[in-house]
Amino acid sequence: MPSQPPIRRSNPPQKSNYTQYKEELRSDFFNSCAYCGIMESESAGVGFSIDHYIPKETPEGKPLENTYLNLLLSCGDCNSHKGKYLASTTQKNLGLVIIRPDEMAPSDHLMLDETDPCGLASKTKTGEFNIAKLELNRPGLKKIRAIRHRCFQANEIIEQGIKALSSVALDNVEPAQRARLLKIRHDILKIRSGFDGDIDKLISDYARSPLRLPDPEKKERTKARMKLLKELGDDGAG
Ligand SMILES: [Zn+2]
Repeated sequence: MPSQPPIRRSNPPQKSNYTQYKEELRSDFFNSCAYCGIMESESAGVGFSIDHYIPKETPEGKPLENTYLNLLLSCGDCNSHKGKYLASTTQKNLGLVIIRPDEMAPSDHLMLDETDPCGLASKTKTGEFNIAKLELNRPGLKKIRAIRHRCFQANEIIEQGIKALSSVALDNVEPAQRARLLKIRHDILKIRSGFDGDIDKLISDYARSPLRLPDPEKKERTKARMKLLKELGDDGAG
């Protein structure tokens, strides 16, 4: 059975121009790109925009230009890779649809790459298509996943330390050492309470560079990406 989509949309009143929905979109999509998950705070140098899932340039999308449910928050890279793509009936039947997290569960199609914790692997043809079309393993994204992964591991180590310290029964500690143990516990819990905010700050500071680094292999990657997309059944450029 397919999993639940992770994003629940709000229902704002109709507005006359889609750009007026920016705040609702930021809130619904947790300030993250609907397609690759990068956060606005991590995306310095790339920028965020409002994506029309059904492109507003197509006959189907024109009437939906200012319809909230056709709008998704997207980073500049995903938006440009997605382009004006709209799956035809044949492409839909092949599974060549762009995953939208308010209607589909990405985890039904994508998973962490077992051989590379910073890479994504596909579970389905839809997953394979999304990795290729949106370039979900582009170097900047992989670097951000690596930073998150390291922060997560550091957090785990601290959690283990807290657990180990908490499991020491005071009765088993020499009276002279009890005050010291209590102080260590107190200090560590204090550090822990500020850690989550620090992680967010750390990721956003460190992530500024990966997205701005020169990308000398981009041309080669684009060529390989286009070839794969063609093999999958998407012959339009994105
Ligand atoms: Zn993105």
